[in-house]
Amino acid sequence: MAKSEFELMGVVPDNLFYVVVGTGESTNFWNEAWLGTSPLSLRFPNLFKLEKRKSARISERRNSYGFAMDWKRTPSATQLRSLNLKNLRRLLTHFPSQMLRTHGVFRVNILRDQIDSVITDVSIKIMEWSSMVPIKVLVFIWRACLGRILTADALTHRGVNTNSTLCSMCSNQEETADHLLVDCMFANDTFKWISKWCGLDLPLFSTVEEVISFASQWGNCPKKRKILISIVYGIMWCIWPARNNRIFNQAPSKPSSTADHAMTLIYGWVKYRGKIENCNWVFWCNNPFSIL
Ligand SMILES: [Zn+2]
Repeated sequence: MAKSEFELMGVVPDNLFYVVVGTGESTNFWNEAWLGTSPLSLRFPNLFKLEKRKSARISERRNSYGFAMDWKRTPSATQLRSLNLKNLRRLLTHFPSQMLRTHGVFRVNILRDQIDSVITDVSIKIMEWSSMVPIKVLVFIWRACLGRILTADALTHRGVNTNSTLCSMCSNQEETADHLLVDCMFANDTFKWISKWCGLDLPLFSTVEEVISFASQWGNCPKKRKILISIVYGIMWCIWPARNNRIFNQAPSKPSSTADHAMTLIYGWVKYRGKIENCNWVFWCNNPFSIL
């Protein structure tokens, strides 16, 4: 999946993208987007002003302990706090040292290790990285579980000025990932449609983590469980564009049409990614587990 696709979704996971920098001798530390999606000079403009040599390469800011800066003047502890140095340090800490080896080569397992380390931190090991679900959806759910999708609440925490932090669907509560995708009345009603379709009495969830935890432990049949996982991930994935349509196109969606959208989308995943023989649309519409 291309980086631009993540950007379009508004769920750019900064730590997931690196360029191969080798020894870092030919990459500009501040002005090239080698860590995340934009140059550090744009993300940390005040720190960049303090940088002694603005054309410094990565190798010049790297030492055996990690990264070391060279400022024009020594900022006070208070100044450093306001300059966002902590965030820059956190970003640099997440940069895998393997990326800076001579002739460094990007390896997927490094990326996966990074994801696992974050997942371990937040105790959501229960997340199922099912091959039936597209990677962009998995990343979206993972980030939603961490509260890192761009809801009004998350944008406000990042210092972005929004007109309101209330939920775009119900205007009753703060728009957090858990509220929007699970706890909101709109999400509740969408889940009710899906419950009926699946013939399941789903419990009332209040967080994304509860939903994925329930699905990953549900029932005794691994094939049915895999389908349920695709379904709950798919519902939450479809609530996001319904929310965006309401905000950006003033086009309100109904829970029933969001459920219909999810049913159609997930059918494609199950049929083409799940490689289930005789995956029949009529059976699917009747009950998703009847295709097995
Ligand atoms: Zn709501």
